[in-house]
Amino acid sequence: MTDLSQLLQAAATAAASYRATIGDRPANATRDLDQLRASFGGPLPATPAPASDVLDALVKAAAGGLVGTAGPRYFGFVIGGALHAATAADILATGWDQCAFSSVLSPAAVAAEEAAGAWLKELLLLPATASVGFVTGAQAANTVGLAAARHHVLAAAGWDVEADGLYGAPRVRIVAGAERHATIDRALRLLGFGTNIVEAVAADRNGAINVEDLARVLGQGGAGPAIVCLQAGNVNTGAVDPLRAASEIARRHGAWIHVDGAFGLWAAVSPMRQHLVEGVHLADSWACDGHKWLNVPYDSGFAVCAHPQVHTAAVSYTAPYLAGSGGGAMSGADFTLESSRRARGFATWAALRELGREGIAALVERNCQLASRFAQGLAAGGAEIANEVVLNQVLAGFGDDARTERIIEGVQRDGTC
Ligand SMILES: *Cc1c(COP(=O)(O)O)cnc(C)c1O
Repeated sequence: MTDLSQLLQAAATAAASYRATIGDRPANATRDLDQLRASFGGPLPATPAPASDVLDALVKAAAGGLVGTAGPRYFGFVIGGALHAATAADILATGWDQCAFSSVLSPAAVAAEEAAGAWLKELLLLPATASVGFVTGAQAANTVGLAAARHHVLAAAGWDVEADGLYGAPRVRIVAGAERHATIDRALRLLGFGTNIVEAVAADRNGAINVEDLARVLGQGGAGPAIVCLQAGNVNTGAVDPLRAASEIARRHGAWIHVDGAFGLWAAVSPMRQHLVEGVHLADSWACDGHKWLNVPYDSGFAVCAHPQVHTAAVSYTAPYLAGSGGGAMSGADFTLESSRRARGFATWAALRELGREGIAALVERNCQLASRFAQGLAAGGAEIANEVVLNQVLAGFGDDARTERIIEGVQRDGTC
C-alpha cells in the first residue's frame, strides 16, 4: 500500500509545479485529442496497481493535454482561475471525503455553506433571507431557479406540479431575452417546458434586454402564470439587463423573475460597476457561478432564491430512511439537484476569506479595466471591437470571418495567449 501522505504530497507537488509554470508555457494544449486518447486508452487493467504508479501514469498521460485556463495567458470564453486558498480547500474537501447531503452527514460542510452563502448574499446585494444552494455551476443554478419558478407560478394557479407534472397544467408563459444564455433553454428542456415556449424579447445593441419590448411582449398575452428570465452578464458582450426597470414591468404582470448572473452579478462588488446591477434584489431567484469570476476551482455555482420554502418545495426530497437525518432544518441537498454531493462550500468559503470584500472588489475592477485596455490596444492595432466594453468581455473581429478565424488560429498556434 502506498502511504497516503506521500501520495497526496506527490499530487500536490505535481499540481503546484504545473501552476507555477503556467504563465510561461503555451496557453493551449500541445498534444491533440487523438494523441491523448492513445495515452489514456488501452485495455482495461486486469490487476491492481500501486497507487503511486497510477498517479505517475496519470501525470504522464495528461502531459501536453492540459489547457492553461487557470493561468494569465488564457482569454477564451468566460473562464476563471483558481485562487490558492480555494484550490487547497478543494483538495481538503476531497481528502476529507465529506458528503454534503445534510448536517448529519457533514455538519462542517453544511456550516461552511451557510457561512459562505451569507457572505455571498451580502456581496451580491441579494436579500439576507434568501436560500443558497451550492450547485455545480450556473447551468444547475438556472435549472434550480426555474424549477422554483415553475413550482411557484403553478401553485398560485392551483396546480401542484411536483405531484401532477405538466400534463394538463395551466399554461405558463416564459419570457426571456433574445440573447439569453443557452443554459436557460436547456433548463427549460429538462423542466418539461420545451424551448418553443420562450417568448423572446428584443435585445439592444450590446445584447441587453430592451425594456419597451419586454413591456410589449408581456402585454400581449393574458394574465396567468408567467416567468421572466433576465440576465446579468451577456456571455459575448458583458451587457447587463436593466434589472430594475425590467423587474418592475415583470412584477406588474405578476411574473416570477429569474436572473442568470453567472458572472455579471459580481459587478455588485465593485463600487464602480455596482450601478450595472442596480435593482438586482427585486428578483425572485438568481444563478451565479463560483468558478468564473470568484476563481473557485470547478465545479462551483450558486442557486439563490428569495423564497426558501419555494426553493425546497421544488427540489428537496425525503425518504423513510432519511427521516430526521437532516436535523429538521433545510440544508445541503435540499437546495440542489444532487443528492450525495461533494462539500464544495469549503472552496467558496476559502476564496471569500482569502480575498475579502476589498480583494474581490479589486479583482473585479482590475479585470474590467484590463478588458478596456485590451479593447483599446486591439482597436489601435486595427481590430474592430464589436461590443461596448462595460464589464470583462471583449469581442473582437479582424475584418471578414475567414480573416478573423485565421488570426485567432495564428494567435493560438503562437501560444503566448
Ligand atoms: C457560463 C454561463 C452560464 C453557464 O454556466 P456554467 O457554470 O457553465 O454551468 C450560464 N449563463 C451565463 C450568462 C454564463 O456566462
